Amino acid sequence: MELKITCIPGDGIGPEIVAQAKKVLDKAGEVYGFQPVYTDILMGGASIDVHGVPLTDEAIETAKAAEAVLMGSIGGDTTKSPWYKLPPNLRPEAGLLKIRKALNLFANLRPALLYKELAGACPLKEEISAKGFDIMIMRELTGGLYFGARQTVEENGIRKATDTLTYDENEIRRIAIKGFEIARKRKQKVTSVDKANVLDSSRLWRAVVEEVAKDYPDVTLEHMLVDNCAMQLVKDPAQFDVILTENMFGDILSDEASMVTGSIGMLASASLNDSKFGLYEPSHGSAPDIAGMDVANPIATILSAAMMLRYSFDLDKAAVAIENAVQQVLKEGFRTGDIYSEGCEKVGCTKMGDLIAQRIQ
Ligand code: NAD
Repeated sequence: MELKITCIPGDGIGPEIVAQAKKVLDKAGEVYGFQPVYTDILMGGASIDVHGVPLTDEAIETAKAAEAVLMGSIGGDTTKSPWYKLPPNLRPEAGLLKIRKALNLFANLRPALLYKELAGACPLKEEISAKGFDIMIMRELTGGLYFGARQTVEENGIRKATDTLTYDENEIRRIAIKGFEIARKRKQKVTSVDKANVLDSSRLWRAVVEEVAKDYPDVTLEHMLVDNCAMQLVKDPAQFDVILTENMFGDILSDEASMVTGSIGMLASASLNDSKFGLYEPSHGSAPDIAGMDVANPIATILSAAMMLRYSFDLDKAAVAIENAVQQVLKEGFRTGDIYSEGCEKVGCTKMGDLIAQRIQ
């Protein structure tokens, strides 16, 4: 079986970490009987340098023709790179917004998983971190407050700004369905987060999520107010499986959840549309300060590739094999610089990719 994958190596450490993810995918393909076929496209600064724009229409068409997109990261040093002297719509990050829109990626998935071996990096109290946690935040990405009508006016010398938060039931239903489907592949629990005690949009959110839940009797649904959820994430993160929420709440909660894991180089992410198609990328940026030095941690990108196998290709066993290989390498004490602690063996980006690929079985 061939897997058609478009790759966006991007800028900074992007090409180094994507190379490791490809290596791991190739090995998983050998073991589990599939063949990844990659087509690379330029995006971000790399595309600006060649085409003068951060993403060409041809590159979008190539991405659309694939079954999934695997990305490194884009962007440069925002204070020094000439890319940031360009108008905002021609800067590297504009490419990312354009591809998300062109591919209709409305569901953002961010896992926050605490590895036992990295529990020391968790800023929570030991009695909390000792329980471990494995949370998937599912955030609506194309609606709500960030996309509603807004204006700033001056009335009688007083400046007044308005933002609007609108969701229709179809937008809520499609993300809720994704949330329940993903929970089915995990621990069968959805915590839907809203502010239904105040907001109409949240009351509709809650009602539609309840309707969708009827089709998933095997999945437990609970509702939680967003302020409580922010507290529970630091008090008892082990209680969560899938957290399903709207755009702004998800923006804030996913950053909070990832920070409690303590290690930026470990955090994968996915953005999905209503088919199996998705864009998979690490949560971190292009780390221009360490680009080209072979010291970046490739694990977030490798784990993003595992998510791609699970959610775009239904290759769950191969995804688990990659996740187990990552865990095994950590257990054996290998660390890149960002997650290094005394007594471990420090390795570079390429070596980390080799070690993980070798342990896939
Ligand atoms: P960053 O995530 O690139 O780096 C923050 C710090 O974390 C740096 O010290 C970096 O060296 C370190 N770091 C990040 N990833 C690492 C890894 N895999 N291994 C080891 N260390 C790692 O954030 P930044 O410096 O604020 O942004 C740099 C550029 O990345 C900017 O141009 C920004 O716009 C862009 N960016 C892109 C994306 C994306 O492509 N989706 C996301 C965030 C930022």
